[in-house]
Amino acid sequence: MTDWSLLHHFEGPADDIPVLFASLTPQNRKRTWRDLHGRLCRDGRVCPASFAALPLLWEVAVGGSPPDRDAALSLAGDIVAKGRRYREEYDAALEAHAFRIAGMATLADAHLADHAHRAHYISLLCGMLALEGHLAWAWALDDLTDTFLAVHCPHCGADVTISVGRYGDHSAIRDRHRGDIDRRPLRPAAAGELSPLGARLLSIATRDGQISLARGLPYLFGTAQCPPCANPFAIAPAFEKRVASDGEPRLPGTQRQHHRGTG
Ligand SMILES: [Zn+2]
Repeated sequence: MTDWSLLHHFEGPADDIPVLFASLTPQNRKRTWRDLHGRLCRDGRVCPASFAALPLLWEVAVGGSPPDRDAALSLAGDIVAKGRRYREEYDAALEAHAFRIAGMATLADAHLADHAHRAHYISLLCGMLALEGHLAWAWALDDLTDTFLAVHCPHCGADVTISVGRYGDHSAIRDRHRGDIDRRPLRPAAAGELSPLGARLLSIATRDGQISLARGLPYLFGTAQCPPCANPFAIAPAFEKRVASDGEPRLPGTQRQHHRGTG
């Protein structure tokens, strides 16, 4: 059993965490999840109380109402993603909860299929990716209606912008004054060329009728041409490498299309 009186969260002693979970109702749902987020996952940071809350999040994910299950899985995904980002500090906590984390990823997949047209679909999908350890995509994936990613060309190191969606499916060089210049069309991956993650995401998006996501994924997991050096490169590994080294996955001026938590 967790002795909550020994733990602190970002707003003080952590003994209010089990109280917040126990008092969760449809009437106070929005405020309660906002309070839990503020206490357990703030400004990209987590604390030992965040991991102590994973069993409580698991209980909600298994037995809660659909909106609470989604919120629990999204918050669990956020906590696990931040924990994985600061591995040395939280390795033991991640290890201790590994079974539960894997179970919540499976639950998130099932909840996506059950309620494919919910408002928080992408948030839950990103929660699933975080729980599975695909951190770059958990941070960056949206519904691909107008997505920009920043990558480095693996051949010449140039900063290349990848656009997928309504502004075109292309690679380009982002110029401060002239916008995205020297555009080159992306080559989408054919079904047999997708990486295991790309193929799985495409099958989930297709299964759940996520039209924009299903259209964009073959481009995101396809091939770009570097404008300066003209060499082709695979976008997904370049993006994952960029996030692993630089952290920040998105370009300035772009917005995530979804919001964490539930309303
Ligand atoms: Zn290049």
